[in-house]
Amino acid sequence: MSRLLVLAPMAIEQAAVRTEGRVLRTGMGPQRARITAARAQAIDAAGVAIVGLCGGAKPELRPGDVVCATELRREDGTSVDVPGSALLVAALRRRGLRVHAGPMISSDHVLTPAERTRLDGVLAVDMESAWLTEAAAGRPLAVLRVVVDGAGRRLTDPRIAADGIRALRSLRRGSVVLDEWARAIGPRTVLLAGPRSFCAGVERAIDIVELALAQRGAPIYVRKQIVHNHHVVADLERRGAVFVEELDEVPDGATAVFSAHGVSPSVRRNADGRPLDVIDATCPLVSKVHAEARRFAHEGRTIFLIGHEGHEEVEGTTGEAPDSILLVQDMHDAERIEAPDPDRVAYLTQTTLAVDETNQIVEVLRERFPSLRGPGSDDICYATANRQEAVREVAREAAVVLVAGSQTSSNSKRLVEVAEREGARAYLVDDETEVDVAWLHGVSTVGVTAGASAPERIVNRLVTALAALGPVEVEERTTTSEAVQFKLPKELVS
Ligand code: SF4
Repeated sequence: MSRLLVLAPMAIEQAAVRTEGRVLRTGMGPQRARITAARAQAIDAAGVAIVGLCGGAKPELRPGDVVCATELRREDGTSVDVPGSALLVAALRRRGLRVHAGPMISSDHVLTPAERTRLDGVLAVDMESAWLTEAAAGRPLAVLRVVVDGAGRRLTDPRIAADGIRALRSLRRGSVVLDEWARAIGPRTVLLAGPRSFCAGVERAIDIVELALAQRGAPIYVRKQIVHNHHVVADLERRGAVFVEELDEVPDGATAVFSAHGVSPSVRRNADGRPLDVIDATCPLVSKVHAEARRFAHEGRTIFLIGHEGHEEVEGTTGEAPDSILLVQDMHDAERIEAPDPDRVAYLTQTTLAVDETNQIVEVLRERFPSLRGPGSDDICYATANRQEAVREVAREAAVVLVAGSQTSSNSKRLVEVAEREGARAYLVDDETEVDVAWLHGVSTVGVTAGASAPERIVNRLVTALAALGPVEVEERTTTSEAVQFKLPKELVS
């Protein structure tokens, strides 16, 4: 049995496809697509891919760009979801192709450039894909189209010939990925780590920006990313939040929100000296570390701050006692660091570190500095510790663990490392478009979790994408439950 059945409308598209699977020419337009789809249902194959050229409907799509259609609409308003297409994106990008994932529309006639630019919310248009989806008949389906004519270009434009060559080259390069996709098809168990996703500090920070937008109106300025997650930031940006690096980018009279990671006193002083409406979204558990830094500094102790250089939380904590704090980033630092008075030392930690690694570092510091004092309760917060324990549980059973989170998220990165230490292959992904299908070859159990700043909807999207490769059984692995909630700042409570 061929693993893959590829459907291509025209002979030139069929000829461009490089695959180990069977390639079937469907003919152009809805009529032929319908007939071929019915025929294809009877062809033995594990998965079906629809490929070909398309017209761009957005100005950012250029000839040769690849479109992975995650939804196929028709002009009558009906549509079909194609979640499997999103899993082509990472492998295509690995081959150096420019790739876009999103909805496409299939039309029964050639749309003019003006008609295409009027299409709402779709990336591109073709004349077959929506009808060809019926060929899948329940089997995994992916749709890969390549832009031949950009949004403003007519098919009669003299540049179309060169664009067509470029597009067919992309189709040839991109079609190779279809075999990688087909090799990932199969039944799977998905283990969901619990707890996962938003912690109480992140919930509170997002609530603060949303409430500020609702009560004061846009724009609301936010110093730094409110939480380290690409989707959260993009979502709030769409709703009127403006993210800035420093307060000097915020106009007088505006509302400015400090992010969940906290700020140093110098930033607060700067804000106090200006006519700004400031709302502090610093997580109370980060504020606790700041208070400990002030206390230890007041006692005349040198403070070893275990954390990562350049992280906003570390910068904020260091700002509380810059003359007393020394950064310890790893075991190497712990073995070499010196203090002016070895009997007056203390340690604090960033809230989002790996618990096991940090314990080892503290142990080394304790051996070298027997008088070492520590925080009253662990600085590594409950959410970080709980998510690490949960992912450890899942990684013991799963060959691959997907961690939803952004590259800027410290706690998400630590989840990857913890899973790897348990022997799993673990990957940090912003969403399903960053999952490389090659990771899934021969893998029957996949763990999924999310960092404290990553929305649960991304976990759902990952599971949906995995389910588009074959039947999945989803099992929760919950190690503990959480009921922590933090109060909102008084400025927002009416
Ligand atoms: Fe607060 Fe911990 Fe969440 Fe950071 S990870 S915002 S410290 S609860």
